[in-house]
Amino acid sequence: MRADAPVLSLRGATKRFGGLVAVNEIDFDVAEHEVMGLIGPNGSGKSTTLNLISGALKPTSGTISLRGTPIGHLSAQEIARRGISRTFQLVRLLPSMTVLDNVRAGAVFGHRRRWGAEADAHAMKMLELVGLARRAHAHVGQLTYIDTKRVELARTLASDPKVLLLDEWLAGLNPTELTEGIALIRRLREEGRTIILVEHVMDAIRSLCDRCVVMSSGTKIAEGTPTEVLSDPEVIRAYLGD
Ligand code: ADP
Ligand code: MG
Repeated sequence: MRADAPVLSLRGATKRFGGLVAVNEIDFDVAEHEVMGLIGPNGSGKSTTLNLISGALKPTSGTISLRGTPIGHLSAQEIARRGISRTFQLVRLLPSMTVLDNVRAGAVFGHRRRWGAEADAHAMKMLELVGLARRAHAHVGQLTYIDTKRVELARTLASDPKVLLLDEWLAGLNPTELTEGIALIRRLREEGRTIILVEHVMDAIRSLCDRCVVMSSGTKIAEGTPTEVLSDPEVIRAYLGD
């Protein structure tokens, strides 16, 4: 395989829910170390696209490939094991468990499996990365909202994902938290991680993304650098019509 082959490719990816085409013939590639923004108005099909990539939903048609190997038919668990890991728009954690236990679950079930002391050490390292090591033994139910988001990110990172899918990870943060959140994603970017960032926060898109794909009503309407797509009249129309 060529060194510059994309890590992830979608070709004609389509998802129908009955009569609704939520994702309509979407094509895009994500290169290694790239941060790709997947943007568009509410209901445009961004989360559904992430669900297709992570295997939570099966495509109605089209191909999704990880390093050239089709994965569209695999279970979510198998896809996670192959290195695609995501956060959810609504945080999903086990509230009665400690922060460390939640993150350790990512280390145990992910792409690179770790057990026992190695899983603990790795989970702590991920908590340090997201700035939450001091809360390792707190119960998730006691945390502030941004800290639950940090736990979810740490849990996702604990599996050493080859492709990290972030679904509106910055949503609901106050301005101070937002600055911290953007800095944290920038750190992941600087580590060379491959990320698909579904995001509404334009500052984050401008400062973090190498490239953006813009969706509207299930269809890709633009692709390019953040500056290019955010000045595209069709993109502006799609957002104003939201
Ligand atoms: P976005 O994340 O861009 O806001 P979604 O991917 O969540 O958009 O939704 C795209 C469209 O698909 C919306 O019209 C939504 O109502 C619909 N949709 C999403 N998930 C389902 C589902 N499980 N069943 C039926 N319709 C769905
Ligand atoms: Mg969504």
